[in-house]
Amino acid sequence: MTSLDYPSHECGVFAVYGHPNAALLSYYGLFALQHRGQESAGIVTHAGSKTPFQSVKRMGLVSQVFNEKDIDQLKGSYAIGHVRYSTTGSSNLLNAQPLSADTSRGQIAIAHNGNLINAARLRAELEMKGSIFQATSDSEIILHLLAQPGASSETKNPLAALRELEGAFSIVIMGEKEIIGVRDPHGFRPLSLGKLDDAWVLASETCAFDLIGARFVRDVEPGEALIINESGLRSEFPFKSSQESFCIFEYVYFARPDSNLRNINVSQARVRMGQELARLHPVEADIIVPIPDSGIYAALGFSEELNIPYEPAFVRNHYIGRTFIQPTQLVRDFSVRVKLNLINSYVEGKRVVVVDDSIVRGTTAKNRVINLREAGAKEVHLRISCPPHRYACYYGIDFPDPEKLLANQYSQEELCAYLGADSVGYLDVEGMVRATRLPKESFCLACFTGDYPIPFDASFNKLIMERRHNQAHLLPDDAVLF
Ligand code: 5GP
Ligand code: MG
Repeated sequence: MTSLDYPSHECGVFAVYGHPNAALLSYYGLFALQHRGQESAGIVTHAGSKTPFQSVKRMGLVSQVFNEKDIDQLKGSYAIGHVRYSTTGSSNLLNAQPLSADTSRGQIAIAHNGNLINAARLRAELEMKGSIFQATSDSEIILHLLAQPGASSETKNPLAALRELEGAFSIVIMGEKEIIGVRDPHGFRPLSLGKLDDAWVLASETCAFDLIGARFVRDVEPGEALIINESGLRSEFPFKSSQESFCIFEYVYFARPDSNLRNINVSQARVRMGQELARLHPVEADIIVPIPDSGIYAALGFSEELNIPYEPAFVRNHYIGRTFIQPTQLVRDFSVRVKLNLINSYVEGKRVVVVDDSIVRGTTAKNRVINLREAGAKEVHLRISCPPHRYACYYGIDFPDPEKLLANQYSQEELCAYLGADSVGYLDVEGMVRATRLPKESFCLACFTGDYPIPFDASFNKLIMERRHNQAHLLPDDAVLF
């Protein structure tokens, strides 16, 4: 790997302005956002005026990364934090965020969720101007753009430099006198504003506010920069306005069920997806079984709609984390049961509907159908609460190359045979959108439809795919992921 890594994936960001326990609040905030990234975590704090920013970031889960001493040493009433997600060997500490730098306009730290689609070009341009990059993620480009003295002399507004960015970015920025929350003009990724006593907080998801007892104030709008400083809160819209295209997969899978995205509760949207799915692909059956955790709410909706009992027959081990231990034959034999085990008595002799949120490569679905058959299920009907995934995501979700997506490998009938199911039914785009109760045109549906909200540079995408391909060997095919 010489220059660019493939871009960073889904992440979680958090920020606090004006609280004496900023580091501790960030720690708990990141804890609530852990599902958005399990590879590395970091917090940067600032104690005001010219004191140096304090930073702790390491590889691992939030609970492993920070100890009490770290939190004690992270002094100051301003903080930003980040959890990073990546599924390949590209992960390393240099790519961990927040990223910070001492620049001509003072210290800056940033934490980014999303993916820039013009990263290769921007990086090359910056390098031509003399920028030296430390790491390989696209997020570092944002730091360089903010640090450029040229941008400020021209416009006096460092945020104007962010107009260069194309793609998905929900960013929290910490300067010496302010905290800024920015969302790209399409608003691909979430970012919300909350209040805790006199302090302001920003978080990728509202579940982080619940944990620390903060009150949800509002979402940062697509294209908005919220600047929080001594004089309070100021809103700017530095970008050309665009049609909102919020990632619908946040509702389907990525966000935590207790979060509200655009004022819609995620768990309730998932229940409605299950109801829509039941109306679209009803089936006569004895029990509805979710694949936990991701299939739980859709299975509830499915069960409710058809009045068939919901039975939580799969039991999930919540303490797996990630294992990079190379699978030996011994492990291969039992690895499918590491994460989930089936209570056979629920399914023996029954006609079972098994519900999951999505199929990517098909590994989960195939194995769960096998489990159900082995346990004596009479029929196994697979229901998926989103449409077939056929296209790559360039805006921050880490799907494999399109040719590895199961829906691109088999026709509907072949798929059923491949998965060993009696029937397979996916939700359609219309039903999925209806379940959110938000207008269709406000969503990015690209991974399902191939309609990309921002035109993209095909050669760059090829580069991404090649890099993904080259790195694929670093992760064993049957590595146990969340
Ligand atoms: P598959 O086994 O088909 O490759 O993946 C489908 C399973 O992975 C589903 O249970 C779904 O909940 C989960 N999933 C869907 N999208 C993602 C993702 O972007 N990252 C991870 N780690 N899991 C995902
Ligand atoms: Mg799942």
